[in-house]
Amino acid sequence: MYKAKELDRNNFHFFSHDMNIKVMERMMLENSMRKALERDEFFLVYQPQVDARSGRITGVEALLRWNHPDMGLLTPDRFIYLAEETGFIVPLGEWVLMTACRQNRAWQKLGFPPLRVAVNLSGKQFGQHRLDEMISAILLETGLEPEWLELEITESAIMRNADQNIAILRSLKEKGISLAIDDFGTGYSSLSYLKHFPITRLKIDKTFVQDITTNPDDAAIAEIIIAMAQTLKLNVIAEGVETRAQMEFLSTHTCFEMQGYLFSRPLTTDKFVYLLRDGISY
Ligand code: C2E
Ligand code: CA
Ligand code: CA
Ligand code: CA
Repeated sequence: MYKAKELDRNNFHFFSHDMNIKVMERMMLENSMRKALERDEFFLVYQPQVDARSGRITGVEALLRWNHPDMGLLTPDRFIYLAEETGFIVPLGEWVLMTACRQNRAWQKLGFPPLRVAVNLSGKQFGQHRLDEMISAILLETGLEPEWLELEITESAIMRNADQNIAILRSLKEKGISLAIDDFGTGYSSLSYLKHFPITRLKIDKTFVQDITTNPDDAAIAEIIIAMAQTLKLNVIAEGVETRAQMEFLSTHTCFEMQGYLFSRPLTTDKFVYLLRDGISY
């Protein structure tokens, strides 16, 4: 009896201790986030998108990192949700777009063949005042042609306010910007909706690619997504490709554009430029 009671008390103690850590981490991140932009603590890493037939780099995804003064290097899963909740994602997302476009233009100026830069867009950024004008202004300021910018958006972000968001996407597409559906297959968009999305690409989520050679369900889903893209005349890319077997499965099923550790991890700009110079071996 006594023992059980003590156990309970200890459990409660642990529980509230955990809670305090969560609450404290949250407060700490929230406060430091505001200053982090001015202090240059955010940076982007770049992961190549490859045509597996030729090994040619066709594009690059910009991925956000935070070099936190106390907590060290943070990946987006630690702080993006907080940025979305607090609205900080609006200035942060604008910084990401500006930085990625400027970087892509800088590679062009160095004489490398032009590539698409893919930037992740949070659903919250759609609610932002004149998102399309903000993006146009960034293209103008950086001198990047719209055809070299791709925005990656999830189905659920579009569906949250479908009519309004589809109108915004249409205006972006009319400017010549490419639009990819990210994490495709993990959301709930119906085929009839997909037909109305003014998009140019489907991105097969890495959760399907992971077991593509061992799990018949995942293999079937990937095949269906590839077929769907072909029917709707969309480009298709697979993310999270780690093994040759996954690459071969995808190639056999006519998905040739890929991204993943097999080709390269996301790299800082100084390392990425070597990839551009020397090409990719895998
Ligand atoms: P995502 O858009 O689905 O990005 C793919 C994630 O998979 C990245 O994680 C990437 O580093 C990782 N990855 C790449 N290749 C492989 C592979 O072969 N195997 C495995 N297991 N993983 C691989 P990361 O960089 O931690 O980003 C996580 C998520 O954070 C992204 O998922 C995206 O939703 C979000 N995110 C990243 N940058 C931004 C940003 O600038 N803005 C917004 N709103 N979200 C971002
Ligand atoms: Ca993405
Ligand atoms: Ca994904
Ligand atoms: Ca995602």
